[in-house]
Amino acid sequence: MNCPVCGSDSLKKGAALGPGAVYTCASCAVRFISPQPSDRELRAIYGEGYYRSWGLSGTEKNAGVKAMKTATFELRLDLISRYKTSGNILDVGCATGYFMEAAEKRGFSPYGVEISGYSSAVARARFGAGKVHAGVLEDCPFGEGFFDAIAMSDLLEHVRDPLRTLSAARRLLKEDGVLMIMTPDTDSLTSRIMGSRWTHYKPEHLFYFNRSSLSLLAKTSGFEAVRFEAAKKSMNLEYLRTQFAAYPHWLLSPAASLAAGLVPRGLRSRNFGLTMGEMTAILRPARRPSRPDRAEPGSKG
Ligand SMILES: [Zn+2]
Repeated sequence: MNCPVCGSDSLKKGAALGPGAVYTCASCAVRFISPQPSDRELRAIYGEGYYRSWGLSGTEKNAGVKAMKTATFELRLDLISRYKTSGNILDVGCATGYFMEAAEKRGFSPYGVEISGYSSAVARARFGAGKVHAGVLEDCPFGEGFFDAIAMSDLLEHVRDPLRTLSAARRLLKEDGVLMIMTPDTDSLTSRIMGSRWTHYKPEHLFYFNRSSLSLLAKTSGFEAVRFEAAKKSMNLEYLRTQFAAYPHWLLSPAASLAAGLVPRGLRSRNFGLTMGEMTAILRPARRPSRPDRAEPGSKG
């Protein structure tokens, strides 16, 4: 077996996860599950209940969950807005379209790609069938160079072939476009502390990056990574308690439950910023080597 990112055969087998185990590449540091769960196993994980547990079913009774999700998406849009403030924006893994809604309010023309039939139907009803592709990025109908910005939050760790996904994003992006990725960071504090019990280790998370392995993936797919940050998410105690009830963790589930119990009801739904072992990366199309007739004055050629 070879590393799916750099091709090295120097792989270290770690903890069992899902049907396989987590491997770490000694050369580029990417971690990945092998063998990957089957399509059938992944479909069983991504049922409607999956989106409901993340507060992304689009039919939340609790308006607080939508407000919290939107607050997180606003943080991602703040970052994107350093580079692009208008134009066509694509949310890959758009679920029911909360990010698209927030982007539209800022003046972007929002598009989405969503693999879940249920969620994509909700988003299509909201934005129009032509704006939301039900499927994956690689077979979406949008034109080459159509997008000013592409967002991938909680997406890259789920795909079977990240190189293929980023290459598709590269084709869809304008030459001066921007790709924002948010994904777990294997160099984060929570990863270092929790080790093989890291909360991001889940059978549906097939790949795990750090800044250097993501930079390498970016380079291989025609991008350059221009910025990394620890990713904040907007959270509240009520949501954390629900999450850790759905995804039990030996330490954090009782901690979230205890904290929620100690705090007055009104404060449980108050949002605060939290870094949970994830990073955001800004990728831009790599500049092609300039030809002599196009060299800018003063450039080194
Ligand atoms: Zn590697």
